Amino acid sequence: MSAPAPAAAGLPVRVEGLVHIYRLFDTEVVALRGVDLTIAAGETVTLFGPSGSGKSTLLAALSGLVRPSAGTVRIGDAEIGRMSERELLRLRRGRVATLLQGAGRNLLPYASPAQNVAFAQRGTGRRHRADAAADLLAGLDLGHLADAPLAALSGGELQRVAIAAAVAGGPGLLLADEPTSQLDAAGRDAVIATLQRVNERFGTTVVAVTHDREVGARLGRQVVMRAGRVGEEGRGDERFVVVGADGALHLPHSERDAWPAGTLVEVRRDGDDLRLVRRQP
Ligand code: ADP
Ligand code: MG
Repeated sequence: MSAPAPAAAGLPVRVEGLVHIYRLFDTEVVALRGVDLTIAAGETVTLFGPSGSGKSTLLAALSGLVRPSAGTVRIGDAEIGRMSERELLRLRRGRVATLLQGAGRNLLPYASPAQNVAFAQRGTGRRHRADAAADLLAGLDLGHLADAPLAALSGGELQRVAIAAAVAGGPGLLLADEPTSQLDAAGRDAVIATLQRVNERFGTTVVAVTHDREVGARLGRQVVMRAGRVGEEGRGDERFVVVGADGALHLPHSERDAWPAGTLVEVRRDGDDLRLVRRQP
């Protein structure tokens, strides 16, 4: 008999004009400077970008851990900026799961995988049968690890158990910060397979920060952050720039030197397409 799926359908995500400013004493760091991003329910998305480009801050905003300085973040029908701390807490315990960087930080070290999942299920406040944890682990092909000591698990196995615990409440949205860093190729592939399995079984929308092109290729849609904005998007081998909610279009990074700030560009209609023509100096 297969495990009953937690009651979760994927949640859509809609981010508009998201700005986030960290305030430290008398300085301000603008981490996000106008992010527009729409993710369909059940989509799997990877976030790329150089260090400091705002990936972790964007994940934190999606989970309600940081409140936007401006702009809106909608998860399903809920707008995060308008929710009380209690509502945010309930959201994070239930439908929005966050996998922090480093598998170990997401697990109780002296409890088995089955106990970790059972503990996470209790935290969601929903009723679970006594064998629900074992069912969930089996459903994610982790049944053989249910009672193993965590110290005996490989890095990839630990991360997969952490994913199982994260989705124990049947989340509609799973946010993972570098879930495959520090793993070898086999561990990485197994973690990707577990993320895909969660997505297929429960319809969970998955957003994962990664530096690994292979992870991006396997999970499908790649969003590239640059300096606090969505710089480009990739589908397979194709690269695109993205029109923002205000109509702004950012040049591909590779073209920035050729067309510096202030360059005058004529926009010409060409059938369904637009052509950008630089005015000759
Ligand atoms: P990434 O995950 O892409 O490396 P982050 O979202 O961590 O980027 O950081 C974006 C910017 O915000 C960086 O300039 C970083 O130094 C700054 N930043 C991140 N977290 C904090 C914080 N807690 N306090 C102050 N500045 C921060
Ligand atoms: Mg980060």
